[in-house]
Amino acid sequence: MTNKDSRVAYFCMEYGLDTSMKTYAGGLGILAGDYLKGAKDHGYPMVGIGIKWKQGYTDQRIDENGKPYDSYHNYEYDFLEDTGVTVDVTIRKQNITCKVWKVEQFGNVPLYLLDTDVPGNPESWITGQLYGWFGEERIAQEMVLGIAGVRALRKLGHDIDVYHFNEGHALFAGFELMREKMGQGLDFYEAWRQTREETVFTTHTPIVEGNESHPIEKLLYMGAANGLTVEQLVEIGGAPFNMTVGALRLSRMSNAVAELHGETANKMWAHVDNRSEIIPITNCIHRPTWVDEKMLDLQESGGDLWSRHLENKRALIDFIEERNGVRLKEDKLIIGFSRRAAPYKRSDFIFTDESIIGPLLESGDVQIVFSGKAHPLDDTGKGIVSSLVKMATKYPHAVVFLENYDMTIGAMLTRGSDVWLNNPRRPKEASGTSGMKAAMNGVLNLSTLDGWWPEACEHGENGWQFGDGFESEDVEALDKNDLDALYRILQEDVLPTFYDNRDKWVQMMSRSIASTRDRFAVKRMLEDYYDKLYAKN
Ligand SMILES: *Cc1c(COP(=O)(O)O)cnc(C)c1O
Repeated sequence: MTNKDSRVAYFCMEYGLDTSMKTYAGGLGILAGDYLKGAKDHGYPMVGIGIKWKQGYTDQRIDENGKPYDSYHNYEYDFLEDTGVTVDVTIRKQNITCKVWKVEQFGNVPLYLLDTDVPGNPESWITGQLYGWFGEERIAQEMVLGIAGVRALRKLGHDIDVYHFNEGHALFAGFELMREKMGQGLDFYEAWRQTREETVFTTHTPIVEGNESHPIEKLLYMGAANGLTVEQLVEIGGAPFNMTVGALRLSRMSNAVAELHGETANKMWAHVDNRSEIIPITNCIHRPTWVDEKMLDLQESGGDLWSRHLENKRALIDFIEERNGVRLKEDKLIIGFSRRAAPYKRSDFIFTDESIIGPLLESGDVQIVFSGKAHPLDDTGKGIVSSLVKMATKYPHAVVFLENYDMTIGAMLTRGSDVWLNNPRRPKEASGTSGMKAAMNGVLNLSTLDGWWPEACEHGENGWQFGDGFESEDVEALDKNDLDALYRILQEDVLPTFYDNRDKWVQMMSRSIASTRDRFAVKRMLEDYYDKLYAKN
């Protein structure tokens, strides 16, 4: 069997396939959606397993006092195909029926979505809100994804060679694979060994708290142990049971999502024995979804990139005017920034010293467009959103906050901005794919050397880095280093090039596209996953 024939079942809690399909929260889902589309484009025999979220992730809007608030709505989709298949899973000793839907609508390989919202189910809410509620609910959702997911594959008649857990959320699929084998008479260790042979795992977050863990008693109470004993659970995931540790031990091979993240993840999990090796495979994007084909063509043929960029910029300006009633200036620099509001991402970083940034906003030489949600339970993140909104109120003609970040906003901003700002505290950003979207659209990255950017950055040629890759446990020192560098590069490089050297700017746009278009297109990622992660050597 050649490698490309490996039949892969890809498990993920969220999928961002289309802006109309509210089954994603952020980067993890966007990556998963892009991956399934790439698999379809390039002919890989893959299927996706996920959840049909009734309410999806939060709709987060801004109230009249500038504070974000959350609301949830029931979504109905007419593009879901009923497979006629249902599977059962026992949660809290109750039988829960999961209906299996299929989505193939968006140029993707088949994606099967599990849904507990069926008549007669005692707990139909399980597939209600993505990343909502509390620990027990999360476990229930993960049982649906993992345990019911494997059962769905069996009933649908898919033979699978590789089970790919995209994030630790899918780990209970491993317990189900073990249960099947133990049911056939294998002992625990042999079942574990064989499960490992067919399982791979992708870890995403270098933030310790982002790696979920659950008390062992809770796993037992919920029924997630799936027949395993306390000792066996502890042997796999420790106590409390860490989902990432468990997935590292249940898989044959693991990967991190950028080179730097590979180093970080290996340090982070160095203390875990009996785990799979973590190799780096850098994320990519699905070009047809995110990149203006015309920019790619013009770059190749040496055509007029600037005029086309201005069309995209105008489309963004119109979009902002429609949404927020503010009309930004076409001949002035637009900096785009959209990501989840989390402290390490430092969304409001550029406002730190208003004596420097204030005059640039007043004069209109710098215009900044923000978007991004905070997790509904994250008050710190919500405070960050509020501070951005406050700046938009203070500088109404230069600062914009677009509420309710989604794929539509993501696409508009990564096409129509001039500069894509990214300032996480290194090395906290695993990869970041919005910068890839921007780069391929000729939007120049201005970023700390974190995530994917150290691999792509040609400083002053295809974008800029600032901060020189400085790392420190001393957050104040790190912030000071990066802030000074950001202001220096902005004032000494970005602004002079934009306003006084358009030729150089366009040259950089061209280099930005040329240096990223293939290296960070999903075809490369698929090849890497098949060669390095799925192949058995
Ligand atoms: C691209 C995208 C992301 C992921 O980008 P990051 O750089 O990881 O923040 C998240 N959300 C949306 C809506 C996107 O379009």
